[in-house]
Amino acid sequence: MDNKPRYSIIAPCYDEEGVLRELYRRITEVMARTGESWELILVNDGSRDRTPQMIRELRAADPRVKVLDLTRNFGHQIAVSAGLDYAQGDAAIIIDADLQDPPELILQMIAKWKEGFEVIYAVRTARKGESWFKEFTAKLFYRIIYRSTDVKIPLDTGDYRLMDRKVVAAMKQMKERHRFIRGMTSWVGFKQTGVEYVREERFAGATHYPFRKMLKFALDAITGYSYAPLQLATLLGFVTAGLSAVAVLIVIYARLFMGHTEFQGQATTLVAVLFLGGVQLITLGIIGEYLGRIYDEVKQRPLYLLRDALGFDGEKQEKEYALSQERDGR
Ligand code: UDP
Ligand code: MG
Repeated sequence: MDNKPRYSIIAPCYDEEGVLRELYRRITEVMARTGESWELILVNDGSRDRTPQMIRELRAADPRVKVLDLTRNFGHQIAVSAGLDYAQGDAAIIIDADLQDPPELILQMIAKWKEGFEVIYAVRTARKGESWFKEFTAKLFYRIIYRSTDVKIPLDTGDYRLMDRKVVAAMKQMKERHRFIRGMTSWVGFKQTGVEYVREERFAGATHYPFRKMLKFALDAITGYSYAPLQLATLLGFVTAGLSAVAVLIVIYARLFMGHTEFQGQATTLVAVLFLGGVQLITLGIIGEYLGRIYDEVKQRPLYLLRDALGFDGEKQEKEYALSQERDGR
C-alpha cells in the first residue's frame, strides 16, 4: 500500500462509461508532469451503465485509482462530498469526469497552491458545445446567485477547483444535506484565487443536468445561502397591505365627497381577492421550501451510503471487495 498521496483528484461519475478510460489517460499524463504522488478517486454515483465495473478495472490495473461506490444515485454534489471525505492528499482537486474541465489546468492550480493560495477555482471564460439555452441559463444562474446570496460566490465557476487539506477539513464539518460545493468553499474563507479556462465539449455521453435538475440546484444554492426569498415574502406583504390602505382611503373619499354611492365593484373585488390569494400561495410556497429543508436536516440521515470503498484503509476494504466479488459471482 502506498503512503499518503500528495494530491487527491476526485471525479464524480454518473453513467460515464464512455469517458472513463480517456479521463484516466489524461489525468495520468498531466499528473506525471508534477513528479509527485497522487490518487484518483472515482465516485460511482449509482450509474446504470458499466461505470462501476470500469472503475474497478482501472483500479485493478493501477492502485492509484481508488473507488467509492455509492448505493444509488445521490447526486453530483453528494458524490463530490463523499470523495472529499475520503481524500487523503495535501490538496484535493474536484474535476468533472466528462473532460469538460481540461485536466491540464491542474498544473496551473498546483502552481498557485504552491504560491500559498488555499482555494484555486477555475473560471470559465467560454463554453464549447453547449446549447444557447444551457449557456444562457447558466449565466443567469451565476448572476442570480451572486446577487441573492450573502456569500460572494465567484461568477462563472463550476466545481472544478483545487482545495488545500485545511479547506477540505473545514468543509467536512459542514453537515448540511442540500449541498452546494461552490457556496461551501466560499463560505469557509481562506485565501482564494481563480485561474481561467475554456470549458470543453463533453468527451462522450450527455449532460445529466436537464432543466429540472438545474432548477433544483439553483433552489439549493439560493435557499442555502440567503434569506432573500423569505424577505421577498415580507416585502410582498407590505406592498399589498400598503396598496389596500391607499385603496380604502380612495373609496372613502369617493363615497363622501364625490357622491359615488356604489362602485361597480364585482370585477375589482374578484381581481383583488385573486391577487391576494396568489400572493399568499407564493409566500406559503417560499416558507414551505425552507421548512422542507429544515425537515431534511432534522432527520439527520447519513449524506450517502457506500457499497464499497476500495483503496483507502489498506487491506480491510480490499478484503471487502474480494468478498463482494464472490458474493456477486464476478
Ligand atoms: N454527476 C453525478 N451524479 C449526478 C449527475 C452528474 O455524479 O446525478 C457527475 C457527472 O458524471 C459529471 C459531473 O457530475 O462528472 C457533471 O455532470 P454533467 O457533465 O452531466 O453536467 P454538465 O457539465 O452538463 O453541467
Ligand atoms: Mg459536463
